[in-house]
Amino acid sequence: MDNNTNNYLADFPALNQRVNDERLAYLDNAATVQRPRQVIQALVNFYDQDNANVHRGVHTLAERATKDYEEARKKVQKFINASSANEIIFTKGCTDGLNLVAATYGEQNIQPGDEIVISIMEHHSNLIPWQQLAKEKGATLKYIELTPDGELDLADAKKKITDKTKIVAVTHTSNVLGTVTPLKELATIAHQHGAVIVGDGAQAVPHMPVDVQDLDVDFYAFSGHKMMSPMGIGVLYGKENLLRAIPPYQYGGEMINDVHRDESTWADIPFKFEAGTQNIAGAVGLGAAIDYLNGVGMDRIVQKEQELVNYVLPKLIAIPDVEVYGPQSPAKHTGVIAFNIKGLHPHDVATALDMDGVAVRAGHHCAQPLMEDLGVTATARASFYFYNTKEDADQLINAIKETKEFFNIGTI
Ligand code: PMP
Repeated sequence: MDNNTNNYLADFPALNQRVNDERLAYLDNAATVQRPRQVIQALVNFYDQDNANVHRGVHTLAERATKDYEEARKKVQKFINASSANEIIFTKGCTDGLNLVAATYGEQNIQPGDEIVISIMEHHSNLIPWQQLAKEKGATLKYIELTPDGELDLADAKKKITDKTKIVAVTHTSNVLGTVTPLKELATIAHQHGAVIVGDGAQAVPHMPVDVQDLDVDFYAFSGHKMMSPMGIGVLYGKENLLRAIPPYQYGGEMINDVHRDESTWADIPFKFEAGTQNIAGAVGLGAAIDYLNGVGMDRIVQKEQELVNYVLPKLIAIPDVEVYGPQSPAKHTGVIAFNIKGLHPHDVATALDMDGVAVRAGHHCAQPLMEDLGVTATARASFYFYNTKEDADQLINAIKETKEFFNIGTI
């Protein structure tokens, strides 16, 4: 397949523009992806026709909005193969979902002396909630380290996860190293020790088929905006028995059964975790994004991104003075590629690339402990999605070479 023949670009208005008089090569997809017009249209349709608050209304618009919202929940259920729509909680995003688990399951189950195990490659969203919970409860936070290649070290995980472990929280895909972790194996190990496992799916769900029952994760969080939905909507999956056993996250309207002067009872799941008016249009948009992803096909997305990585990674590694972090082999690499040009600050690199129309991110990527581990304070990061093309990859490579020339860095 030739990536230059791209059937999808026409659906993405934001990708069809020029920046700084150059063709836009949007390679900041790990931060957020662009939306196809089908998703934008779903939002317009909702606000044009169906806009109302959900659940308690009996009028026609309220019924339509409720149907739209609950249909979106079912689409999410099918998309990640949850066993019931009750296991799908709409959140603000991945960060919100992970905080929910720490504040409810963590609050209820962690005792002094317990251990929480995460990995050194975690995004701050899947690190700080556990760090703070451990501090508050007098528990210990332990880190699974990396192999020299930048993959999660399963042998180290087997040492770190013990009978003292109550929660294992690990990302499914790194937002820096471009590696996929062995989440299913980690779930087995966690369960052997009586711990629950929480998966951070922010960089996984948009890019590959995810089956939460096959993974056997207890909780799994992800964000809509990284899979083409509107911003401000995300999902927390939780096994039904666990969701029923833990306390609510927030209190207010919608999440109650009965309220009296001194006592209240809670609605059934998932509503127990959806206090107040929710991002209904966001959920509808997420449903439209899932329709779009299903139309492309998740297997096809894996294939397209792998082809792009196979094409661009060796070219990037071959440029003198460019250091690529994480595995050097395309077969072990997702479309997230962190790199530095020796002698240049990544912010200067990102600014120079922008002048050539190439959008990449620079910074610590909300993974400061990982940066410390890599011995850097920041990196540049190019991240691909299925709609990217070889032309985007060539533009990146050429812009890096031009940047080196401009700053007079080594040989090009
Ligand atoms: N985890 C990972 C691996 C991420 O890449 C991100 C977003 N960069 C998050 C969690 C947090 O997602 P959000 O900011 O949408 O809540």
